[in-house]
Order: sequence, then C-alpha cells, then structure tokens
Amino acid sequence: MGISRRQFLGWLGAAGAGATAVSRAEAASNKQFDGYPGSFGILHDTTRCIGCRKCEEACNKVNELPAPEQPFDDLSVLDKTRRTRSDVFTVVNQFQKEDSQLPVFVKKQCNHCLEPACASACFVRALRKVKTGAVIYDESLCVGCRYCMVACPFNIPAYEYNEAITPRVTKCTMCHPRIEKGLLPGCVESCPKEALAFGTRERLLKTARRRIQKYPNAYIDHIYGEQEMGGTSWLTISGTHFSEIGMREDLGTQTASSFTAGPLAAVPVVVALWPVLLTGIYAISKRKDKIADEERIHAVAQTVADANEEMQVKLAKMKDSMAKEKEAAINLEVKRALEEAAKEAAESQQASEEAGSETPKEEK
Ligand code: SF4
Ligand code: SF4
Ligand code: SF4
Repeated sequence: MGISRRQFLGWLGAAGAGATAVSRAEAASNKQFDGYPGSFGILHDTTRCIGCRKCEEACNKVNELPAPEQPFDDLSVLDKTRRTRSDVFTVVNQFQKEDSQLPVFVKKQCNHCLEPACASACFVRALRKVKTGAVIYDESLCVGCRYCMVACPFNIPAYEYNEAITPRVTKCTMCHPRIEKGLLPGCVESCPKEALAFGTRERLLKTARRRIQKYPNAYIDHIYGEQEMGGTSWLTISGTHFSEIGMREDLGTQTASSFTAGPLAAVPVVVALWPVLLTGIYAISKRKDKIADEERIHAVAQTVADANEEMQVKLAKMKDSMAKEKEAAINLEVKRALEEAAKEAAESQQASEEAGSETPKEEK
C-alpha cells in the first residue's frame, strides 16, 4: 500500500497535535499507555514478501552502515537464520513450511513497542518512545550498562563491542529522522512487493484486518504486535503460525513496564526506584530464560566483568591512597619523634652546659 506525501504530511501534523495528549499520557503513569495518538507504524505482510533483501540494503544505506561481508543480492545468506547486529538493523529470515514447497520470509528489526521494555530499563532515559511512534536512542545519555539489551523481549538492541572509545547501543530507529522530514522509512520505500506499508498504527490495523477478512484462507487470524507486550508500532500478518516463523507467541499482552511499579518510561528516574527497576528487569529476564542466547549471556557477563573491573580499579586506587596516607602518617610520627628527641637532647645539652658554668670554681 503506497501513501501520498500529502497524506503522510497530514498524518505527521496529526501526530504533532497528539503531543499534548502525550504529555497527559506521560503524567498518568500508572495506566497502560496505548500509544501516541496518530503515531506511525509499519505493517509487514509476510504473504507478499519474496525475500529479496532490498529492505536490508535500503536500511544499510539510509543509516550509513558499513558494507556487508556478502552483497545484498547474495540470497545464500537466507540459508541461515540471522539476527540484528550493531551494524545490521534489520534482517530477513527464511522459514520452510512443512506442508508447502514455498518458503516464508520474515523481516526482523526493532518492533517499536508502545511501552518499550528497553526504555523502561534505561535509568538515564537514553532510549525513549517519541510521538512519531519510533523508539529512539540518545548516545550522549547512554552509560553503557546494557540493561536495555537484557530487557528487550525480542533480542533487538545490539552493542558496538568493537568500538573501544565510544561504543553505542544500536537498533532500527523506524527511520525517525526521515519521518520527521516527511520521508518514508528506507525499507518501506524500497520494497518492490509492497510487503511493507507505512501509516498511522490505527490505519495499518484496519488494513491488516481488512486483508485477513477478505482472504481468510491466506492469513492466520492474528495481527502480531496488536497486543504483544502491550502492543508494538511494527505489525506483522502471516499465513503461517507465528511460532513457526521465529516469532515469540509466549509474550502475553502485558507491557514490560507493568512489571515495575508503573511505566518507568513515563516518570523521571530517581535512585530510590532502582530496586523496583531491577525487580522489573528480573521479571522480564525470567520470561526470557528459555531463549537465553549467546549474546545476552555475553552482555550480562560483560556488564558484570566491567563492574568487577571498575571495582578492582577503585579498590586498587583506594588501597594505594590508604598505603600512601599510612606511610605519610608514619613518616610524620617518625619526624615528630626525631624532632622531639633532638629537642630533648639539645635541652639536656644546654642544661648540662649551664650547670657546668654555674659550678663554683675551686678556691686556690
Ligand atoms: S524488500 Fe520487501 S519483499 Fe524484499 S525482502 Fe524486504 S520486505 Fe520482503
Ligand atoms: S523491540 Fe526491543 S528494542 Fe525495540 S522498542 Fe521493543 S523493547 Fe525496545
Ligand atoms: S525503518 Fe529504517 S532503520 Fe528500521 S529497518 Fe527500516 S530502514 Fe532500517
């Protein structure tokens, strides 16, 4: 489904007008947040997708990511199931249905949750949901704790482990900078089969429902992302059960933030909230136990290792400074003792000299 630029800019205005409502939504932080009014989303119709990887190529280009090891027209990469990485914000995976010769292609990227677990876990608010519907990242605020990676139920945020100086958390931004300029997300613009559609989430839900109703034999009667984890801005429809095409069906409809005392994404974080936050992360992590993969284990291990390393450095510095202080104190005491001894010796010398001079001379 293509949309005109005029329609698009109209929607952009509506999303802007929704900002006031957004503030109110933020203030009411004990209720589930149903998404910003008029915010955008993307609908992926897997029945239309041909696995051409044009969306991957466009994503690479618009985000100025490094060139891939294998070119985008090399479809042999589809033989393996891939996941997003710090330099790959989206991947298309291929799944073989048991009852069909035809494969199913599924695009994977950040789902831009309505109440993102990643943002709830981020205590400096480096990740946040904005009015366009995108979940965006501010590297200037990020402290590199990587709790977002642990919290995301879809295993999306990646970390630039190879960047020694300024590593960042990376993921799809829903092309937020392009949307703000009135442009379509790169992947949507490049899809030759209209397997990706951009529009307001409400409109996309209607489109998805219409297709499912019109072709009941072609689609599973479910819009993935309408309810999952409280709803996501990225929606998917399919002719195959989602669990058979690599999508989690065990997530439930509760938002990540409902595992904490309230949507932490909507309130300023203070130190006192840490126990609540960590309880929330623990609850989310428990749900993800079954699918703990190498990267998450690595991320957690890395976080612990970093914390240990930092603690060891601090301890070493502390020990060093204590040793120096102790040595200085001993030196001072020794100096004082020597000075006192010298003073006493001088006084005693003076006393004996004075005594000597006062001794009456023997009369001859
Ligand atoms: S560009 Fe469109 S058809 Fe091609 S892989 Fe991506 S979503 Fe599928
Ligand atoms: S999919 Fe993961 S990274 Fe994307 S918004 Fe949701 S929780 Fe955050
Ligand atoms: S919306 Fe933009 S950043 Fe996200 S997958 Fe598409 S092209 Fe990449």
